[in-house]
Amino acid sequence: MTTVAAYAAPAAKAPLERTTIERRPVGDHDVLIDIQFTGICHSDIHQARDGWREGIFPMVPGHEIAGVVREVGPEVTTFAVGDRVGVGCMVDSCRVCENCVAGLEQYCTGGGPVWTYNAVDKDGEPTYGGYSQNIVVNEDFVVRVPDGLSLDVAAPLLCAGITTYSPLRHWGAGPGKKVAIVGLGGLGHVAVKIAHALGAEVTVLSQSLRKQDDGLRLGADHYYATGDPKTFEELAGTFDLILNTVSAPLDFAAYASLLRTDGTLVNVGLPEEPVQITLQSLFGHRRSLSSSGIGGIAETQEMLDFCAAHGIGAEIELIAAEEINDAYERVLASDVRYRFVIDTATI
Ligand code: NAP
Ligand code: ZN
Ligand code: ZN
Repeated sequence: MTTVAAYAAPAAKAPLERTTIERRPVGDHDVLIDIQFTGICHSDIHQARDGWREGIFPMVPGHEIAGVVREVGPEVTTFAVGDRVGVGCMVDSCRVCENCVAGLEQYCTGGGPVWTYNAVDKDGEPTYGGYSQNIVVNEDFVVRVPDGLSLDVAAPLLCAGITTYSPLRHWGAGPGKKVAIVGLGGLGHVAVKIAHALGAEVTVLSQSLRKQDDGLRLGADHYYATGDPKTFEELAGTFDLILNTVSAPLDFAAYASLLRTDGTLVNVGLPEEPVQITLQSLFGHRRSLSSSGIGGIAETQEMLDFCAAHGIGAEIELIAAEEINDAYERVLASDVRYRFVIDTATI
C-alpha cells in the first residue's frame, strides 16, 4: 500500500478537504498513474451530496483523469512507463457477461461495472477517484491519450467526451441530421464540438443567450434561449435528435415537441428527482425517449482518437485543489466555462 494525498468529502454534503488515502500495490496487470489533471463533473457533485443514493464516505470524487504511467505490473502489455493515459468512470467489470464481451462494460450485468469512486472494488476495498495524486488501475480500463491532445483539455473527455460521443454515434448524428444540445455546460460544450465534427447541423438550447457567442464559436449553427417561449413555437417538429445534458428536471413534453417524426430525445443529464413526461408528447410522431450512460472502453479510445484527429479538447478553467468547493458552487449556478479541471500538483 502507498499513501497518497487526495481531496475528499468526509461525509455527505460536507465540504471537500485535503486528506490521504491508501492505494493498493501494483498488481500483475495494474498500471500506476501519476495523475496530472482531473475534471470536475456534475456527477461528482450529485454523489458528494448524496443526490442519487447513499454514498460511501469519505469520498474522493473524480472520473475524468489524465496522467502519465509511472509503473506497470509484470504482466502488463499495453502500456509502458511514461505513456500519457486516461481513466474514466469505470476501473473494472465482470468481463464475461454479454455486455462486457460486446464492449459495453458500462452496462455490465455481472454485478455492474466497478465505478472509479463511490464503489467497492473486487478486493472489497472502496474505490477512490481522481482528486488525488495517483491511482492504480487494471490496464484494461486505461486508455491512451493521443499525442495531439494536451492532458489538461483531454481529462474532461474521459467522461464528458464519451458520454456525448457515444449517443451521438449511436443515434447517427451526422450530415443531414438536425441535432439539438440542451445545456451548454461541461457535457454540452463538448457535445457541440463533437456533433459539429460529425457533420450534423447543431443547435444549442440554453437557458439564455448569455453564452451564444461561445456556442457559435464551438461549432453550433444555431442558438436559442429556452427561457423564451417563442423558441418552442419556432422549433416545433425540427430535430432528429435532442441530447439533453441538463442536471435538473425539465419540461420533457415541451422538449419532445421539438422532435420531428421518429426523432429521439436522449437524456444523459441525471437529475436527482424523478421526472415526468406526458406520452401524448411522444405518440403522435412516433417519438422516442431514451437515455445513455458513458460508453465502453474501446469506444472511449475511439472517442479520444476522434477528438485528437479533429482538434477537440474541452474548454477548461484550471484550478487549484483548494478551489474545489467554490468550483462546485459555480457549477451548481451554471457558471462554468466550460469545465473546471484540477491541477493535481496542488493537492
Ligand atoms: P454542468 O456543467 O453543470 O452543465 C449542465 C448545464 O445544464 C448547465 O451549464 C446549464 O446550461 C444547464 N442547466 C443547469 N441547471 C438547469 C436548469 N435548472 N434548467 C435548465 N438548464 C439547466 O453539468 P455536466 O457536468 O455537464 O453534467 C450534466 C448532467 O449529466 C449531470 O446531471 C451529470 O450527473 C450527468 N452526467 C451523466 C452521464 C451519463 O453517463 N449519462 C455522464 C456524465 C454526467 P445552460 O446555462 O446553457 O442552460
Ligand atoms: Zn462524469
Ligand atoms: Zn459484465
